[in-house]
Amino acid sequence: MTVIETLTQRNEAFASSRFSADLKIMPSMKTMIIGCVDPRVDPVDIFGLLPGEAAVIRNLGGRITPATLQTMAMLRIVAKASGGEIGLGWNLIVLHHNDCGITRLAHPRSCSRSTSASPRQTSTPWPSPTPIRPSPLMSPP
Ligand SMILES: [Zn+2]
Repeated sequence: MTVIETLTQRNEAFASSRFSADLKIMPSMKTMIIGCVDPRVDPVDIFGLLPGEAAVIRNLGGRITPATLQTMAMLRIVAKASGGEIGLGWNLIVLHHNDCGITRLAHPRSCSRSTSASPRQTSTPWPSPTPIRPSPLMSPP
């Protein structure tokens, strides 16, 4: 069985027995989690989340980037369109972890230990992060 067949089979099992159409689009724990894409640190596993309890945004390093802010702003718009509100009383969790792969990008020398890249290749400076700017989609609380 291929990976896709396995995942398709798991999706069918989830859809038929564990998905609840009664779940609200607004997380029942009024919680938004920003976490890393690293498969070892899934917030669902770490916090024992059940479907519908939290909104989870994952990216490399669990960073608050302009794209993260834009996603958060769009979630707020979706919440408003659904009759809800994201704001006071909500929890925002920024979840980082040990041995995150993004730390290897910040230190080119550590990359050279695990690859056969030449020092010239690894001495290329990592680009400066893009400053976070306020999103025009976000309104003050
Ligand atoms: Zn990570």
